Amino acid sequence: MSENNNNEELHKESGEYEDVCYICRRPEHTAGRMIRIQAGICICRDCMQKTFDSMNSGGINFSDMLNMNNINMEKMPKMPNMPNISMINLSDLAGGIPERQKLKKKKPKEKKEAPVLDIHSIPAPHKIKESLDDYVVGQEHAKKVMAVAVYNHYKRVMSDTDDGVEIEKSNMLMIGPTGCGKTYLVKTLARLLDVPLAITDATSLTEAGYIGDDIESVVSKLLAAADNDVERAEHGIIFIDEIDKIAKKRNTNQRDVSGESVQQGMLKLLEGAEVEVPVGASSKNAMVPMTTVDTRNILFICGGAFPELEEIIKERLNKEASIGFQADLKDKYDGDENILQQVAVEDVRKFGMIPEFLGRLPVMFALEALTEDMLVRILAEPKNAIVRQYQKLLAMDEVKLMFEDEALHAIAVKAKEKKVGARALRAIIEEFMLDIMYEIPKDDNIGTVTITRDYVEKKGGPLIQMRGIPALPGKAGASG
Ligand code: ADP
Repeated sequence: MSENNNNEELHKESGEYEDVCYICRRPEHTAGRMIRIQAGICICRDCMQKTFDSMNSGGINFSDMLNMNNINMEKMPKMPNMPNISMINLSDLAGGIPERQKLKKKKPKEKKEAPVLDIHSIPAPHKIKESLDDYVVGQEHAKKVMAVAVYNHYKRVMSDTDDGVEIEKSNMLMIGPTGCGKTYLVKTLARLLDVPLAITDATSLTEAGYIGDDIESVVSKLLAAADNDVERAEHGIIFIDEIDKIAKKRNTNQRDVSGESVQQGMLKLLEGAEVEVPVGASSKNAMVPMTTVDTRNILFICGGAFPELEEIIKERLNKEASIGFQADLKDKYDGDENILQQVAVEDVRKFGMIPEFLGRLPVMFALEALTEDMLVRILAEPKNAIVRQYQKLLAMDEVKLMFEDEALHAIAVKAKEKKVGARALRAIIEEFMLDIMYEIPKDDNIGTVTITRDYVEKKGGPLIQMRGIPALPGKAGASG
């Protein structure tokens, strides 16, 4: 009897995670307080009641249903009036819900009153931009627009909306060629603001029920990024990359499950909806606990390269220019690399994004294509610039690594040829640094290595300087 009492003892609140019912998988905040059966295993009162009801009505023969390996018949007390019924050996189930599927408990009411992000602690837009400047080179316009949008967004989150004036959500649409820093900007921003961030590819999303991830899976990812803390997730940022890939398909009669339908499906999410998401898994199934996340205060940022959008913009600008007597300007925009800066909503609409979707991304801006000079700056200026990273690595071997300005330009030129923006830089540097990183530690006497233009262009070697001796040109093929 006393054992029974122990078993049915209410699970006292402890730890920071919610309990989840082992049978129906509902978390504590929906199913109510749990009855702890054994360490790590809890059952909600509803399920417990249902189990007893079924037993009493003799409807369930557990020994038929359960895997016999899990049942320790001898140890189980036979219950009166219940022939053939025995219990699962609970020690076999020890562990219960996996850690990653556990839900963080919501903070108690009084604490909730204090905002997670205090408006006074949100830095002013110029401060946000200044911090971004430390990491992101160029993209002045984008940084400014983002700083203001983020500032307004969190101001909106903190504001009391009871006065009838509801500030519109500042979801963003960023347009820019590949490798120009879209993802990097968002990542840096989330890190600086210390909010959880989920990054998803729009190409992996499909309408619910089709092969691919449900649209709501993005919220599930954010919840995971927030360590299953619903409150934190509700103030997070979701970045959806490659958004141009879900443009409306032109000339198709088939059902567009990964294009227009995804845009339609995202509308509610972008605006603000309560979505049921699985905890710690990307798809819903009976074995995964579910929870509700409100997306009203989640900042959505969509990004894409929008190839061929330039043509659409050019066409519009040319049309505008040809009204009147400026028809001679027809090719005016042909050589303009940054034509994207002149993007207007109607261009993106023409590209294939539906108006309702664009309406929910009110902050639209374009990033610049990276120039050779910007690539050089990216190599050396940011706090965690690639050059600095290598310098730090070699400094650990007490070797000083230097790059000639011309060498940096040569790397930038090579990167620009690859047309993948700053993404090409690391690959190029890694290629020639491999030899250096391999050879230099062999010789303790080497004090300084200078990367020259010739070395980058594979026409010569780096300059090697021994400790206490003036510089010597190294052998081609990396000092070795
Ligand atoms: P995309 O625009 O395709 O999302 P990313 O943001 O992923 O490109 O950029 C790739 C990498 O290039 C980043 O991880 C970052 O290191 C570097 N990078 C790109 N643009 C910049 C920039 N403006 N300033 C500093 N680094 C940059």
